[in-house]
Amino acid sequence: MRMMVLASGSKGNATIIAAGSTRILVDAGMSCRELMKRMALVGEYPESLNAILITHEHLDHVAGLSVLARRLKIPVFFTEGTHRAWVRMITPRTTMSYAKWLDNLQREKEARATDHLPAHTVATAVMESEPLVVDDPLEPECAEPEMDAEPAAPRVKDNPSFLPVVEYFRAGHGFCIGEIDVSPFTIPHDAADPCGFVFHARSESIKMAIATDLGYVPPNVKMALRGVDVLLLESNHDLEMLKDGPYPWSVKQRVLSRVGHLSNTACAEFLMRDYDGGAHTIVLGHLSAQNNLPELARLAAEQAIGERMTLLGNRVVLAGQDEPLEPICL
Ligand SMILES: [Zn+2]
Ligand SMILES: [Zn+2]
Repeated sequence: MRMMVLASGSKGNATIIAAGSTRILVDAGMSCRELMKRMALVGEYPESLNAILITHEHLDHVAGLSVLARRLKIPVFFTEGTHRAWVRMITPRTTMSYAKWLDNLQREKEARATDHLPAHTVATAVMESEPLVVDDPLEPECAEPEMDAEPAAPRVKDNPSFLPVVEYFRAGHGFCIGEIDVSPFTIPHDAADPCGFVFHARSESIKMAIATDLGYVPPNVKMALRGVDVLLLESNHDLEMLKDGPYPWSVKQRVLSRVGHLSNTACAEFLMRDYDGGAHTIVLGHLSAQNNLPELARLAAEQAIGERMTLLGNRVVLAGQDEPLEPICL
């Protein structure tokens, strides 16, 4: 089983979890081109991805989502709340009743089912009305295929949030993608329905977890993170740096709140008091560029783990924003 953190932080998040022949991309928070570039750097082919899983709808987790999903024509897994929020975000002027939303979903489903159009026609039609999804228009490897002469169905054309396949999951209800069992859990964060995940490779009895973008570590998260072999955990900010830093007061309040981000101190508290000490590797992620220093995050975590850090376990590594982390293979 492998975890490949392609990027982690407020400028973009994306991680690949791989086991056997299954590849899951968790979040697509960078341009399609950048995501593909980073996949190549860790030796993964975009075409080998089976699915994209979204933690929540903030832009640093979804910036390249629609372009990548349409290009690869793979399913995107959301909670319904996150999907709705994402659709609202990329079609900001639309106010939609719940009935209309369900109706739209049904029509999209029908459009896929009766998809007499070649898939790329649908994708191209959607691209025409691409609104907020910021992707470099010049990126050749992510360009949509040539438009067919045949006109696309208008209902698809009108819908900028169209994805090839949408699947829903619910926090607390496990599901599987290929050879990987996925257990989503709720995290406290200021998004519609944010989730962390535990991934379990059935054949290898190895567990890897992702828990970033959380204001604090509630009991359900502590429970979920028991017995994991690799843990990507948020260590967002140093409290002093945040307090003295350049953010406006309102943003500081947001970050510090119970639905904001995990500080180095809170991360260390979890590692000291609640963490079972059994992981091979702990990856500190979503570090703030403004309000943290890698050395501070590492020091806090290493002090918290203390003597449990050995050659065989509890290795602490830091995921960054600018380049992929060395793949973690177990
Ligand atoms: Zn984030
Ligand atoms: Zn977020």
